[in-house]
Amino acid sequence: MMRWTQALLNTLREAPQDAEIVSHKLMIRAGMLRKLGGGLYTYLPLGMRALRKVEAIVREEMERAGAQETLFPILQPAELWRQTGRWETMGPGMFRVQDRKEAWYVLAPTAEEAFTALAKSEISSYRQLPCIIYQMQDKFRDEIRPRFGLIRGKEFIMKDAYSFDADEAGADRSYKAMYDAYVRIFKRVGLAAKPVEADTGDIGGNFSHEFMVFAASGEDGILDCAACGYAANQERAERKAPAQPYGQENGAAEAVATPGQHTCEEVAAFLKCPIGQIVKSLVVLADGEPVMALVPGDRELSETKLRRVLGGKKIEAADEEMVQKVAGPCGSIGPVGVSIPVYADKALEGAADVFVGANREGFHLAHVSLARDAKITAYEDLVTVREGDLCPKCGRPLEIRRGTEVGQCFKLGTKYSKAMGATFLDETGTPRTLTMGCYGIGVSRTLQAIVEQSNDENGIIWPASVAPYQVALLLLDPDSPEVTAKAEALAAELEARGIDVFMDDRAERPGVKFKDADLIGLPVRVVAGAKGLAKGGFEVRRRTDKDSAVIAPEAAAEAIAQLLQTL
Ligand code: ATP
Ligand code: MG
Repeated sequence: MMRWTQALLNTLREAPQDAEIVSHKLMIRAGMLRKLGGGLYTYLPLGMRALRKVEAIVREEMERAGAQETLFPILQPAELWRQTGRWETMGPGMFRVQDRKEAWYVLAPTAEEAFTALAKSEISSYRQLPCIIYQMQDKFRDEIRPRFGLIRGKEFIMKDAYSFDADEAGADRSYKAMYDAYVRIFKRVGLAAKPVEADTGDIGGNFSHEFMVFAASGEDGILDCAACGYAANQERAERKAPAQPYGQENGAAEAVATPGQHTCEEVAAFLKCPIGQIVKSLVVLADGEPVMALVPGDRELSETKLRRVLGGKKIEAADEEMVQKVAGPCGSIGPVGVSIPVYADKALEGAADVFVGANREGFHLAHVSLARDAKITAYEDLVTVREGDLCPKCGRPLEIRRGTEVGQCFKLGTKYSKAMGATFLDETGTPRTLTMGCYGIGVSRTLQAIVEQSNDENGIIWPASVAPYQVALLLLDPDSPEVTAKAEALAAELEARGIDVFMDDRAERPGVKFKDADLIGLPVRVVAGAKGLAKGGFEVRRRTDKDSAVIAPEAAAEAIAQLLQTL
């Protein structure tokens, strides 16, 4: 049992200025977290206990899924990161430090390289496969906008697991085992997290799910189909191509004057045609080489999708000079006559009688048939899907929702094992490259996401599985030896049953104790007061109940244990 008078615990009436979302405010106000610097938070004893409970559940489910725990250094030699090229490609988001000999190191933002190096040295035979290893370790990222407390920190705790298999089929089994473990983990910690199809980002690889918690403050957009359950990150979401909106061929292409009209909206208004009849052309640099992308005039190019189409090349904006060199003046460019690769959105397949820029200031081309007049390298899914677009699975309109990612599973293929030469000998003694997967859970983010999802106007409502303590025992008359003795006897009985108890034994008014109990949000509240005990016993209620039940001291431990079973 912990007593408040001995605990390092201060609750606050006001949240700090920089706490924008409810979970951040509540974690600070309830004395669970304190800020050390931007994106850097200290866990106080109560917060620490909740964190440890989340970690324990993650560990249990990892072990159940056959994963083995390891622990890698956070400080990792730059050399390791050079082997896969990520020393260069990770950019300013990665913290880099030097030792006294001026050798470079990384404060690991993730750990594919280190785990692959271990697999390379330790796995030599197919007999050792499959192998899933994980760690629970601090990660560092120089986020552009660290905010929302533990949701986006510069330093945070991640559980990262990596699977090594002989082939794609084995990798699929490992992926499924981890995916299923994630479903169990989020359920057990009391968090509603939905798996959605995701882009593979900096980690690379070819297949991925993110586990998303829906929240108004979420920084990700998720396209969600209420009808069939399809859900995907906006970076990834596909749409059912709209019924062909484009006309029949209508004579040869011809230049039309569009003086001063540059955006698709301007050109459509000037030519008095629907914006869907204009094709938007963009020049971007892919690993420094110019390519053109075409999307319908009213749609946005998804750079993430273009990057995937181009095999993960880095996409950057091209400057005016480059656009002029490969096409024409900005605002008047089009695909006709250019000699760089041109990627068009799928919806433009068969587009005829459309307008495109003429690569000449003040002119557009009318009656263009893309297939006839331009050289299209490929038709691909390139637009950012938005609310109202049709579900790629069932064709009903998609909804957009905000979400925060708490975990992600990736199929990596051989991206890292190939780069680092991590091979094994198969049944015939032939060396083969390991097939990998990686699986992250933001443990600290998950802790705060639980609070974001589970609270009311009075404070946190901890799910019993991760609450810092299960029972708040409010000792209303700490000066009374009889009341204190009864409360302590109950606490001892509860602890003997494995139920942890936090006793508010401060010399404070009852109202203050009730308010703090609601703020801290332990699942069961027990009031031990002279008045109540004289009337018949302890007053017991769940954090979510309006009214208490009065329970005789000798029956209280059993009743509380049963109440906890309902949570
Ligand atoms: P996000 O898109 O939110 O930046 P990410 O996709 O970059 O996250 P991953 O590389 O997939 O993150 O890392 C695995 C998990 O680590 C994420 O699912 C998330 O829960 C957590 N995480 C990532 N960045 C942070 C951060 N800055 N602070 C706290 N948790 C984080
Ligand atoms: Mg992610």
